[in-house]
Amino acid sequence: LQSKLPHVGTTIFTVMSKLAAEHNAINLSQGFPGFDCSPELVSLVERYLRNGFNQYAPMTGVPALREILAQKTADLYGVTYDPETEITVTSGATEALFAAITAVVRPGDEVIVFEPAYDSYVPAIELNGGIPVYVTLTPPDYTVDWETVRQKITDKTRLILVNTPHNPTGRVWTADDLQQLANLVHDRDIWIVSDEVYEHIVFDQHTHLSLMTHPVLQERTFVVGSFGKTFHITGWKVGYCFAPKELTTEFRKVHQYLTFSTVTPIQHALADYLKNPEHYQQLPNFYQRKRDLFLEGLRQSRFTIKPAEGSFFQTVSYASITDEPDYELAVRLTKEIGVASIPVSVFYRQKNDYQMLRFCFAKDDAILLDAAERLSKL
Ligand code: PMP
Ligand code: GLN
Repeated sequence: LQSKLPHVGTTIFTVMSKLAAEHNAINLSQGFPGFDCSPELVSLVERYLRNGFNQYAPMTGVPALREILAQKTADLYGVTYDPETEITVTSGATEALFAAITAVVRPGDEVIVFEPAYDSYVPAIELNGGIPVYVTLTPPDYTVDWETVRQKITDKTRLILVNTPHNPTGRVWTADDLQQLANLVHDRDIWIVSDEVYEHIVFDQHTHLSLMTHPVLQERTFVVGSFGKTFHITGWKVGYCFAPKELTTEFRKVHQYLTFSTVTPIQHALADYLKNPEHYQQLPNFYQRKRDLFLEGLRQSRFTIKPAEGSFFQTVSYASITDEPDYELAVRLTKEIGVASIPVSVFYRQKNDYQMLRFCFAKDDAILLDAAERLSKL
């Protein structure tokens, strides 16, 4: 069989989590919470499981969930989406990203990708015959050079992929970023997929600016979210996509043949759970405390660190510790000091020597302190 994805191996998240397990290491590699979700949410799921909510959900998602998502979005971002025609529940953000990219990208279309990029984007583009065009973000600030973006836009550019708050760098886009993007696309047939799965995890003075809050961007953007990050349920794989009616129509044509629908009892439970905004309003404080605890633990270390603005990832530079390539270092640290991380170079297509590692701080405090202590000995 001739591979359709010859450059793709097993995802780094699987590789590093497996290595961590083999060496009994603290796993700060793959991004998932090391603690459980709320018992209240589990009880809600149980109630729906026991009361016969076990057959196919509507293809577009359980109405109550789409309705509460519409209300939450109106309250938080001041933007109104019609739950009937503009909101779709998906099997995780991964499915929504794939469906949105597939809905838009035709063979030969160019897609602008900011790298480092989350690892599912480029394979989705390539499976649709699209051509990724990279704009590189560099440490320590990872800011977007908008002049470079302008130069990379051609008549073939069909889509731009955005991710804010950003995995792996933790950067959060500013109002200026949104305006710069709007200036570049307002008079062109370019669509946008905005991956906002960390929308509720922002720190310090930063606020999440959804692309839907900018009218020029809103009308051409698929905004993708996930309950996995927001409610500590990455294993449940429930996400969603907001997009104007015309885009949602095409999105749903793909979604209905990709998965058709998404797990029924969990959708009902999430609809109930979302009625209390405190469940997501507490998230920034909850994770900021963890980020700060981890950073405090690393204060005596030789890493150079710029605190993450959002997400539950912290990247660090190890340039003053060793010259090793990041992949080798991540493997060595897993085996020798028992702390697994993700080498940031895997999120770039171009080989580079930025010498960065990514640590997930969505873990119990004691684990974070233990990991920080081990890392501080380097
Ligand atoms: N986008 C980003 C930036 C992510 O970090 C992740 C994984 N956590 C996803 C998408 C996938 O989300 P899901 O698990 O809901 O498919
Ligand atoms: N999004 C998670 C991360 O960045 C991992 C998701 C996955 O394992 N596919 O670590």
